[in-house]
Amino acid sequence: TGSSYATMSFILPVLESAKRTKLSHEPRRMVRASLSNNARRPLKTSGGGFGAPNAKRNIKLPYDASCLCGRPQAFDQCCGPYLEGSKSIDTPVALMRARYVAYCLGEVDFIIRTTHPSHEDWRGGTKSSRREWARSLQLYAERYEYTKLEIVDTSTRDDGVHGEVEFKASFRRRDLADADVAHLHHERSHFVRSGMIAPWMYYRGEILDLEVQKGSLH
Ligand SMILES: [Zn+2]
Repeated sequence: TGSSYATMSFILPVLESAKRTKLSHEPRRMVRASLSNNARRPLKTSGGGFGAPNAKRNIKLPYDASCLCGRPQAFDQCCGPYLEGSKSIDTPVALMRARYVAYCLGEVDFIIRTTHPSHEDWRGGTKSSRREWARSLQLYAERYEYTKLEIVDTSTRDDGVHGEVEFKASFRRRDLADADVAHLHHERSHFVRSGMIAPWMYYRGEILDLEVQKGSLH
């Protein structure tokens, strides 16, 4: 299933079938996840198939703290407006962060609508394929807890409509049985937009590294 890696938007990947597995006693670094527990809120389906892709939503976090993307700003001063659709996605790294937060919160519609229509995950773009995609995203959001995002590098090309973000995302399964297994997803994501004032979209990702680290998280 190696080729399927390329189809995975961010994170989804990997998981059970990591190409490369490292077992080590990697310490607490992976768990720091200061906000991860707060991210556990009931996942809701955000309704509405293809309709109203730009409908504004009002997403409330159940706490008053820094954004889940790791920046010190509050959610509503950081990724919140992007997720809610009240602010246009103006840089590749803003979209990267917002998509990470969407994974944290199970905001699958945001992930879908910020994925470029040419991406394989659209699978023909029918309503049923979109529902299936949404279900698989939801499943991952329920199964995995995203604990840390590290932006390694970000750039926008001179043409202003292509950009890249290299990042590392840490996550782990929510069930206690596997709570000491930490996953690290290292990817270079490519973003495009259709014009200088158009919102950025996730175009494709190159998996740079996948790690599974076991132990010493308790
Ligand atoms: Zn943020």
